[in-house]
Amino acid sequence: MKHTFSSTLDSKEPKGPIAERWTKYKNEINLVNPANKRLIDVIVVGTGLAGGSAAATLAELGYNVKAFCFQDSPRRAHSIAAQGGINAAKNYQGDGDSTYRLFYDTVKGGDYRSRESNVYRLAEVSANIIDQCVAQGVPFARDYGGLLDNRSFGGVLVSRTFYAKGQTGQQLLLGAYSAMNRQIGRGKIKVYNRHEMLDVVIVDGKARGIIARNLVTGEIERHSAHAVVLGTGGYGNVFFLSTNAMGSNVTAAWKAHKKGAYFANPCYTQIHPTCIPVSGDHQSKLTLMSESLRNDGRIWVPKHMKDVIAIREGKLKPTQLTEDDRDYYLERRYPAFGNLVPRDVASRAAKERCDAGFGVNATGAAVYLDFAAAIMRYGKEQAFIKGLDETNETTVRELGKEIVKAKYGNLFQMYEKIVDENPYETPMMIYPAVHYTMGGIWVDYNLQTTVPGLYAIGEANFSDHGANRLGASALMQGLADGYFVLPYTIGDYLSNDIRTGTIPTDTKEFDEAEKSVQENINHFINNKGSKSVDYFHKKLGKVMWEKCGMSRNEKDLKEAIEEISLIRKEFYKEVMVPGTANEFNEELAKAGRVADFLELGELFAKDALLREESAGGHFRDEHQTSEGEAMRRKEFQFVSAWEYKGEPKDAVLHKEELVYENIEVKERSYK
Ligand SMILES: Cc1cc2nc3c(=O)[nH]c(=O)nc-3n(C[C@H](O)[C@H](O)[C@H](O)COP(=O)(O)OP(=O)(O)OC[C@H]3O[C@@H](n4cnc5c(N)ncnc54)[C@H](O)[C@@H]3O)c2cc1C
Repeated sequence: MKHTFSSTLDSKEPKGPIAERWTKYKNEINLVNPANKRLIDVIVVGTGLAGGSAAATLAELGYNVKAFCFQDSPRRAHSIAAQGGINAAKNYQGDGDSTYRLFYDTVKGGDYRSRESNVYRLAEVSANIIDQCVAQGVPFARDYGGLLDNRSFGGVLVSRTFYAKGQTGQQLLLGAYSAMNRQIGRGKIKVYNRHEMLDVVIVDGKARGIIARNLVTGEIERHSAHAVVLGTGGYGNVFFLSTNAMGSNVTAAWKAHKKGAYFANPCYTQIHPTCIPVSGDHQSKLTLMSESLRNDGRIWVPKHMKDVIAIREGKLKPTQLTEDDRDYYLERRYPAFGNLVPRDVASRAAKERCDAGFGVNATGAAVYLDFAAAIMRYGKEQAFIKGLDETNETTVRELGKEIVKAKYGNLFQMYEKIVDENPYETPMMIYPAVHYTMGGIWVDYNLQTTVPGLYAIGEANFSDHGANRLGASALMQGLADGYFVLPYTIGDYLSNDIRTGTIPTDTKEFDEAEKSVQENINHFINNKGSKSVDYFHKKLGKVMWEKCGMSRNEKDLKEAIEEISLIRKEFYKEVMVPGTANEFNEELAKAGRVADFLELGELFAKDALLREESAGGHFRDEHQTSEGEAMRRKEFQFVSAWEYKGEPKDAVLHKEELVYENIEVKERSYK
């Protein structure tokens, strides 16, 4: 297959040693003086961690900011869902961490497909984020002595993850929101809650505004600015079922794409290994069990098929299986990282076991995440500390449960509420699910898209995580972009706008953009078809998961492209949107979002088709062999992306050979 690449993309990466690029760059870019910042308007779409931190900082600097979100408050952005933590190279544990190591882990974790200059900058500013958030009062977990605590996430050998129980995103968002509130109080940020951006307006080749719909009244509004920033999150909901908030969507990014912003790596999706398995067709949402659980939880399936069958038939409980009858497959295959391998590796391994028939629930798509060993380990330690009988199993177990509860209590409670099983007593059941999209709007080193004046930050852009994002790195990137990167880089562009004056909205460009938004809405309201929006979204999601999910091949991807285009045609003909355009109409909002997913889905499949590679959570397999053999081939293809040292003698490798110890990372020079 022939690939053509545009030569127009200029990443604008600074030259020179990678560790000096950001400092040198900041010293050389154009600045806007404080008095002139008052003359400049910036629209920030999105008030999650990326958009919220950007809006607050830009306003603090003196720009006039208009912030938009579709929720009823910036505090309800999807970022609030983040559970496990945020990375920073503070080396508080003295375990050998450094800016370089965080940079290196992130680049390696992303299968060497991220832009290295951006990632180095990210690692560099990571430490500032923690200081900033602590100053805001974010209640990060602290150790016995009162110092900030850390835990580990997958794909690294140090503890660099700062956390606030299982609610890190919520606490960070409250911090960003208070920073915003200060500026709202000063009149420097004007917030437009319950407003959905439906188009970006380009004037003389520059982004100069947006068209937004007031979701409460249905009114279509024009808003102008000297620059537009999109912090509009990821598009995992193209799969219908995902761990993302129900409202997360691609509309803002997609409209920007249709106005000329390039989209990069649309098919790179993170399939998170520890989610509550799908239970049936009625579901509209999947729930994440934070990766932090893999610090203490051990992942396993039964070793023998007879036990799998007995468990599925309800004749055997997992707790009745002896250690010898369990296959702790991650510990077996990846002894150095054990249960803390990167997400893509853990997800593929779970799928491999389940495809081989070892899945433990009725659908055959689940593995165990077991805390029994951790409970006993912590319990013994506590019994020792308290001078109690370490051989008394009941005492030890109770003490251990308390420690596990203190660390992960809210996650255990959530699991119990959804599954109706007590995870302190029986192992959790988990399975991989769509969680994050590494792909997104292409941006240069300034975080500017290919449309001048249009910026993308946070999950909405593509640059930092390559083919796989390491855990706790999304919050880091969102806040790095918003607090520490964009506020500098956008000045370079805006320095040309100090004499421009207010951008008028009564121009033909705004007329045209508004007209096309209105026509779209009219179509949905007047269509009066026979099927709900969700009917089409579900249908799309099924194609995406089955043909563009973890395992991909040419035939399936070609079929997916065809099927998605048929679903899209049927959607426009048959979709039924009740109600009117001039009221709060969630079905209407959903229709617009699904329409964009139906276009993105096709691009996604085309991107996947072009990539004759295995990377991240995706493996390409054209060999229609037996399932087991096919899986082993996929494993090899993937590991080769991790620069696997041993040469394969044969396409069918023993899985035991595929351990990280065998990976010799080539010396790379970043000078
Ligand atoms: C369950 C879960 C747990 C996670 N845990 C972690 C974790 O522990 N650590 C970690 O690093 N990452 C975690 N992540 C990932 C992380 O939460 C997200 O990647 C990150 O929060 C995205 O932030 P954002 O600001 O880019 O976008 P979001 O928080 O998604 O915010 C998007 C904003 O854009 C607005 N918006 C979108 N479209 C429009 C539009 N058209 N018009 C107007 N407004 C619009 C929304 O209203 C919202 O304000 C987790 C993700 C999930 C799903």
